[in-house]
Amino acid sequence: MKLYEFQAKNILKTYGVCVPDGKTVSQSADAPKIFQEIGCNRCVVKAQILAGGRGKSGGIQFVNTPEETRTCVERMLDTRLVTRQTDQKGAEIKYVLIEKAVSIKKELYLAITIDRSLKTPMLIASAEGGVEIEEVARQTPDKIIKEPVDIFFGIHPFQARRIASQLNISGALSTRLNNLVTNLFRAFVKDDCSLLEINPLAVTTDDELCALDVKMDIDDNALYRHPEFDQFLPDQDISSAESLARKYRLSYISLDGNIGCLVNGAGLAMATMDAIKLHGGEPANFLDVGGDASLERITQAFKIILSDPKVKTVLINIFGGIMKCDVIASGIIQAIKEAGIHVPLVVRQEGTNVEVAKKLLDNSGLNILSAKDMKEAASMAVRASKANGYTNR
Ligand code: ADP
Ligand code: MG
Repeated sequence: MKLYEFQAKNILKTYGVCVPDGKTVSQSADAPKIFQEIGCNRCVVKAQILAGGRGKSGGIQFVNTPEETRTCVERMLDTRLVTRQTDQKGAEIKYVLIEKAVSIKKELYLAITIDRSLKTPMLIASAEGGVEIEEVARQTPDKIIKEPVDIFFGIHPFQARRIASQLNISGALSTRLNNLVTNLFRAFVKDDCSLLEINPLAVTTDDELCALDVKMDIDDNALYRHPEFDQFLPDQDISSAESLARKYRLSYISLDGNIGCLVNGAGLAMATMDAIKLHGGEPANFLDVGGDASLERITQAFKIILSDPKVKTVLINIFGGIMKCDVIASGIIQAIKEAGIHVPLVVRQEGTNVEVAKKLLDNSGLNILSAKDMKEAASMAVRASKANGYTNR
């Protein structure tokens, strides 16, 4: 789950990280008052989207009066911002952050993420932070400093000193950096982040360290232990199908193809997508209903697949172990009765209660293409999808 800049800044504040004074608005009428409340003669108006690259695309604007702030916010709200980190449609601006314009001496880069090959958190820093960081990393990778962090011990003092020295920071400022890095790591672990990035981290003209932009990604697999983050869910940039899937604890990822897949078990779901590709088709989604799905979750899963307008055929591939085939069959029948079905349905079932399940489907009066094994199921689904208006790319 990605957080907006203002949400991430509010969280970091609780860990003692310095961020500019500011407030978020969702209507322009509130903007002039906030400029006055901040009480300085220059503010920054920042479009809140779940992507970066705003500075280079007009999403960050400096303003000098309350009226200018209102006009600027008005121009941003409810429009879409396209940056190099969004798709071509861009992201809708529902919130705008108005904050104090900090007087910057230098822009640094500081982040913690997970290094998958080392299987450890990685502290990343650069003296050349700011909007060009991707270019810096591409053209002069030696300017990116990396320190693997011991997940249990945290950052060793010598590592903090090494980072400070490589960033050309000394004296009181290096103590501040040490504290900041420690607080950042505390937040990273406690809030189960997969990324916590400050770019830029400003060295201000009065030698303070101030986080001007924060990116915080929370590991979705840890969300169950963070009910405090539930409030951020409605703002996630995901399709209604994906948010419905989250609600019913279904692992669902929408893809580009047109064969909807309903499978139990992540491994079998991957193998099903491979089989579809092998037969010249394209899966419309990954969907693992899990081993303990209830009738309700199966019904919802089926509805989610059918709500995708790209879907020209549905392939159900079930290996009944803990999840019994007859429960799946009942779910399918119930969902079709509730939602109807407008595309061919191919079913392959094997395992616990498979005979009961077959009888249920046979007696349901529904038009179901029954496959004897996975290979046949994939080939039937691909054929049906092509007959149903599919053009293989
Ligand atoms: P993005 O990374 O999406 O481009 P940032 O928040 O990093 O957006 O802003 C881009 C640039 O705008 C920063 O590198 C910094 O130079 C400037 N900036 C952002 N916030 C402030 C602020 N509060 N005060 C002064 N300058 C700012
Ligand atoms: Mg930034």
